[in-house]
Amino acid sequence: MTRADLGARIGLSKAAMSGLTRELLDKGLLRETSTVQRQGRPSTLLDLRPEGAYFIGVSMMSDPALIALVDLKGGIVASIEVPRSIDPDAFAQTVADSLPSLTRTGGVASERVAGMGVSLSGLVDQEQANCIKSTLLGWQDVPLAKLIRTRTNLPTFIENDAKALAVREKLFGEARDMHAFTLIWLGDGIGAAHFVHDRLYRGAHGGAGEIAHCTVDVDGLPCRCGKIGCLDTVASMIAILDQARADGIEAETLRDVEAVAASGSSSAIRLLHRAGSALGLAIAQIIQINDPQMVVVTHREEAFDGLFATVMQQAIEANVLPRLSGDTPIRMRRVADDAWAVGAASVATQSFLNGII
Ligand SMILES: [Zn+2]
Repeated sequence: MTRADLGARIGLSKAAMSGLTRELLDKGLLRETSTVQRQGRPSTLLDLRPEGAYFIGVSMMSDPALIALVDLKGGIVASIEVPRSIDPDAFAQTVADSLPSLTRTGGVASERVAGMGVSLSGLVDQEQANCIKSTLLGWQDVPLAKLIRTRTNLPTFIENDAKALAVREKLFGEARDMHAFTLIWLGDGIGAAHFVHDRLYRGAHGGAGEIAHCTVDVDGLPCRCGKIGCLDTVASMIAILDQARADGIEAETLRDVEAVAASGSSSAIRLLHRAGSALGLAIAQIIQINDPQMVVVTHREEAFDGLFATVMQQAIEANVLPRLSGDTPIRMRRVADDAWAVGAASVATQSFLNGII
């Protein structure tokens, strides 16, 4: 953006903007990119300078875990895989031990690293410091941020997987200019994150908008959370593949189930229908309640354009108020393996840009 556009956006005079941008240019956080013609006069565009600051992003979403050195614009400079120990102290030590080689590979002086983020599957507290509960890691009240910080001296934040992806979407993705959007993560479990008024909305206990544990079938299967018939028991990838196996369908991925359905198997069609309509219904409720500008459904599947996604879309359209129907774009996005590491780094980047670190 130009200085004039930025000033108009945040309500500052031209003189104030000029001083402010000068300071940020001097600090190396901004750079001037190209010149555009505005009202007949040349105007310079400003952008963040990728080398202005660096962040460490740790993803505990896979084993081995991925640690990435990420620049101020979300670009990966270097990355390394390490064993994902579920012993919090051991993992914190592994992360700390891997930093010197990571910065060396990336050619970045360690003092240029401003902070660290860690993404994991589970519930994280308001301060992004403690993992309240993670079924996957078997954790309860683990102060992971502190364990890492004491070993690295880096401001460290932990974040739930879907929320980290949403922060990345907000800082570097399509949601950059949006005030309100929802991100759904459809994997072994179902994650959800909601930006409301430009901020991640957590609710009073950190569990706001966790659609995975919305009850969709009161007579359904027991859920790992202890309830019955949660969305997770019907529409998560684990649920879909478990149901497929129970129906005698040989399937390891959604693509396999879709192929069996496409060949006319009524049980495969029924199970994809049930899963797609349950997820679509849950997303429709979110649209009714929050009225986001966009819903992004992120996943790792190769085949996300078959019956499951079609039924999901139809269920969304059929279950939001006709006046709102079609007003909320639904984006399907397949994310790469490194998405959570970049997401984790962007949680630290956000704190840096907000002046918290
Ligand atoms: Zn549940």
